[in-house]
Amino acid sequence: MTERKNVYLYYKPSEELEPKIEELKNIGRKYGYKLVSDVKEANIIASIGGDGSFLQAIRKTGFQEECLYVGLNDKKLGFYTDFNLNDFERIESALQSNFVEVLRYPTLEVTVDGVQKFECINECSIRSNIIKTFAIDVFIDDLYFETFRGDGMVVSTPTGSTAYNKSLRGAVVDPRLESMQLTEISSLNNNEYRTLGSPLILNSDRELVLKIVQDGNDHPIIGVDNEALSIRHSHEVRVKVSDKVIKTVKMKDNSFMHKVKRNFL
Ligand code: NAD
Repeated sequence: MTERKNVYLYYKPSEELEPKIEELKNIGRKYGYKLVSDVKEANIIASIGGDGSFLQAIRKTGFQEECLYVGLNDKKLGFYTDFNLNDFERIESALQSNFVEVLRYPTLEVTVDGVQKFECINECSIRSNIIKTFAIDVFIDDLYFETFRGDGMVVSTPTGSTAYNKSLRGAVVDPRLESMQLTEISSLNNNEYRTLGSPLILNSDRELVLKIVQDGNDHPIIGVDNEALSIRHSHEVRVKVSDKVIKTVKMKDNSFMHKVKRNFL
């Protein structure tokens, strides 16, 4: 593996953070790491902030497959933030080991109306923009599966399974299972409308097609992770497991199961 020494820092500057970032830079220099201001020169991208900042760091830097993403937080550890800016000992030990081991997180590829492509590491969500319910015809590969009517649907990655998906009572999925999960947001289930009503985990070779029924409420909000897409009048959203993975640091006490335990139990 090539040595990773060029670090791009992604963060919102603040007076409170500045001394900690200076200390981080000093420690980095001590171990031969170099800060770069152009993300194209980076092979490590470090986000400072919560899980939301980590998601933004990946998005704003364009899901760089060659880079190692590292999440640091100055408050509590999150799902993607593995290092605390108040614990420089742990940061130093990671720097000493040269970040050689990596965890690979699957991502989803989302195509809207056949033209616009997006990636996500947590989930793609489609929700009604107004108080009225809206309807989605769900196809799995070429099979018409169901018509959903309600508030919306979420398609999550395994690492995203512990986020929005979990609030919708979706299953927590081990990222070693290359898959995606479809969950409903408040589906109507009565004699007129019927959906599966439970989360559905699909293998990575499946394609999910969500066709928005054009029946007067065809202005959904489509979100990829924590960003809303500014797309109006969408008709069709295709979701599949992407070939791209996001690499993050693998520490002994930092497996997915450690994170699930640390965050929820
Ligand atoms: P944020 O950092 O404020 O995140 C919001 C919360 O989600 C935090 O507690 C964070 O730790 C947690 N989180 C984010 N990704 C996670 C993951 N993969 N596993 C476990 N917890 C995770 O930033 P934000 O910009 O608001 O975060 C966006 C995320 O919030 C979305 O990707 C979505 O998953 C989640 N979300 C959840 C709900 C819900 O649970 N009802 C609704 C909307 C969005």
